[in-house]
This record gives sequence, structure tokens and C-alpha cells, in this order.
Amino acid sequence: MALIVHKYGGTSMGSTERIRSVAKRVAKWVRAGHQIVVVPSAMSGETNRLLGLAKELQPAQTSTAVMRELDALAATGEQVSVGLLAIALMAEGLEAVSYAGWQVPIVTDSAYTKARIESIDDKKVRADLAAGRVVIVTGFQGIDSQGRVTTLGRGGSDTSAVAIAAAMKAAECLIYTDVDGVYTTDPRVVPEARRLATISFEEMLEMASLGSKVLQIRSVEFAGKYRVPLRVLSSFTEWDIPIEEEAKSGTLITFEEEANMEQAVVSGIAFNRDEAKVTVLGVPDKPGVAYRILGAVAEANIDVDVIIQNVSHDGKTDFSFTVHRNDYQRTLDLLKSQVAPATGAAEVTGDPRICKVSIVGIGMKSHVGVAATMFRTLSEEGINIQMISTSEIKTSVVIDEKYMELAVRALHRTFELDGEPAT
Ligand code: ASP
Ligand code: MG
Repeated sequence: MALIVHKYGGTSMGSTERIRSVAKRVAKWVRAGHQIVVVPSAMSGETNRLLGLAKELQPAQTSTAVMRELDALAATGEQVSVGLLAIALMAEGLEAVSYAGWQVPIVTDSAYTKARIESIDDKKVRADLAAGRVVIVTGFQGIDSQGRVTTLGRGGSDTSAVAIAAAMKAAECLIYTDVDGVYTTDPRVVPEARRLATISFEEMLEMASLGSKVLQIRSVEFAGKYRVPLRVLSSFTEWDIPIEEEAKSGTLITFEEEANMEQAVVSGIAFNRDEAKVTVLGVPDKPGVAYRILGAVAEANIDVDVIIQNVSHDGKTDFSFTVHRNDYQRTLDLLKSQVAPATGAAEVTGDPRICKVSIVGIGMKSHVGVAATMFRTLSEEGINIQMISTSEIKTSVVIDEKYMELAVRALHRTFELDGEPAT
């Protein structure tokens, strides 16, 4: 008997029929002798619907008071899910009880719309499990020290599930979703993408932060910090497949410190179309300039990703960096109105139609020439590289958005990731 956390995403909870299938699957695990805590997302489309209603009433949503109410609103999606799932489990003949995050309580800070979990009191949940009940806890939400409902950011149910698994020292956290695991890249872009049976925690963290949407990045950080065994698997298999088979399916996130010798050098290719590039031209090349530019951007609460500074000519240099596309106009305005006058820059330009393509693999730690192979592949396709950034286990390039699919496909082939077309 083991304590296991199951997380079901929005499409897995998308209709009463789907919810019934989730209940049958959970019942199968309970009848096999396990204690199960279930963390469901809102029914698919529901969070968008709720936030859309708010947007109709108030398009400007930056004040803390409005964000607080957005959380109160958005959190209801998951409350519907836990109630329905508890009822479905009872219909399967199990005892079940639901909790909203505040009832557990899951305590968070007060950063509305992107709160962080501070503590989880698992007393009530443990007592229910001990009494033979299935416990269902809302994903995506908690309560702050002022008693206000908070949410953890879009996709936050993954983080709820992993945090509960960590707090309760669960044997495993199973993330049931609408894909059957983590792929070498998005199969919608590369039909030959393959499911990975395992991926290291470090690689998963890079993949999530570089644009792979399978898991919310915070959930991966949490899993790493507390070493929660995590598996991504499909909720769209028949609910009654044997447990032993289900327990081995999908992709396991591993914590092996040593790279598996047989592992491919590159494990996956991530891409991200959400960034934009800005360039400050002709800034005097002297100490403090990078700080002047990026300090102002950071003060405006704008996240910066890839940064490059050119060699200088005649005491002047150019400085480029990427920001989220949503922050593009704001960044340009800020650079033009404040930074350029203060630094004596000649011009500010930008390009929102870029994308970042990254290769990820712990094998890169022990192999040379991997980045060169990436650059060669892109040059053979006639793709110009605008920016480059690297870490121990990834290399990212910024290229024109219109070459994204071509780049991803070519790299997938070069690094021998192509397999049988995914079904
Ligand atoms: N329902 C929330 C969202 O759509 C949380 C989640 O699904 O993980 O972002
Ligand atoms: Mg999700």
C-alpha cells in the first residue's frame, strides 16, 4: 500500500463522461490497496471563460485589488471539479471528500495570480485517508495570511499536486494529462517526435522553462527541491488497463545524478514563440551601461531572457535582449523615453517576430561540438542566427519566427531523435 497523488488536467476533467472515467481509474487504484489524493484542474476552457468574463468588465487588470478578485473568481473552476469528482467517486461506491485549498489549508503568499505555496497542513487529509476516504483537493489555489483566496498562475494545478505529494511524502505523483508523456519535441511540429521513457529532472526543468508546456515550471522546481518522484502519463487510455501497466507508462522524471552512458547527447528540442527582441544601438561602451539599461527594465518588472552585447567600435556598442512578447511595447517605450536619453544611445529598435529554439540534454556536459552541430544544421537550412545563449545542458538560438518549424525539424533529425510517427 502506498500513498499516491493523482493529478488530472482540464481535458481529463472536460465532461461528466471524462470525470466518470477519472473516478473509475481512481477507484481501481484504491481497490488495489492504495491511498489516493486527487488534485484536479478546472474543466477544460473554464479558467479562460471565467477570466474572459472579468476582462469584459474591466480590461485594466493590474491593480492588486482587481487581481485579488481575479483569483477569487478563477479559483471557482477547480471547486466545481472537486465537487463533481467527489460525487462521481461516491457513485463508484467509494467514500470521498473534497477540499478547496483554503480548507486544507494550503497557505501561500499574497502575490495574487502568481502566488507561491508557503505551507500545507496535511492533518485533515491524513485523517480522511486513514478513515478510508479518497481525498480530492483543488489544484491551482491556496489562501494567504489575510484569508484571501490566491491562485498559483496558469497551469498551477501541477504545482499543487507536487507540493501536496512533497508535504505528505507520497510515494509518487502521477500527472495524468491528454498526452502520453514527455516528447522529444512537440509532435504537432514534428510528427516523428518520440515519447521519452525517462527524462532527468534537470532536463525537464530546462524543457519547461524553454517553452515545453507539459508541466508548469514551478512544479518541476518543487519536485527537484523535495525530490518528488514524478510521472507524466495519459488519462486517455482505457481506465481499466492493469495497474502494473499504467504505473510504468508515460515518462518518469528521474533524479539520477550520473548521465546514462547510452543516453542520446540531446534529449529534446524546445521552442518558444512568446519572446521579442529589442536592441539599443550606439551606446557608449563604458562601465555601468548594461546596468543602466537592464536595471531600468528590471525596475519596471520586465523579465529579460537572452542578452548579447556586441564588440565596440569607436567607443560605442550595441546591446540586444529578449523579453516576453506581452512586454515588448512597454520595453520599447521605456528604452526610448528613459534609457536612450540617459545613456546617450543613438537608436532603439526591436523585432517581435522572433522565436527561440533550444536543444537540451545532460549528454552535452560530456560531449564537445554539440553547439557547433546545431549551428551547422541551421546554416545548411539557410537560417540566420540572431542570438545565442548556453548553459551546461542547453544551447538556445534566437531566429526569425518564420523558420521555427524548419529549424526544429532539422535539429530533430540531426540529433537522431526521429522515431516512428507518434500515434
Ligand atoms: N485551471 C488552471 C489553468 O487553466 C490551472 C490548471 O489547469 O493547472 O491555468
Ligand atoms: Mg496543465
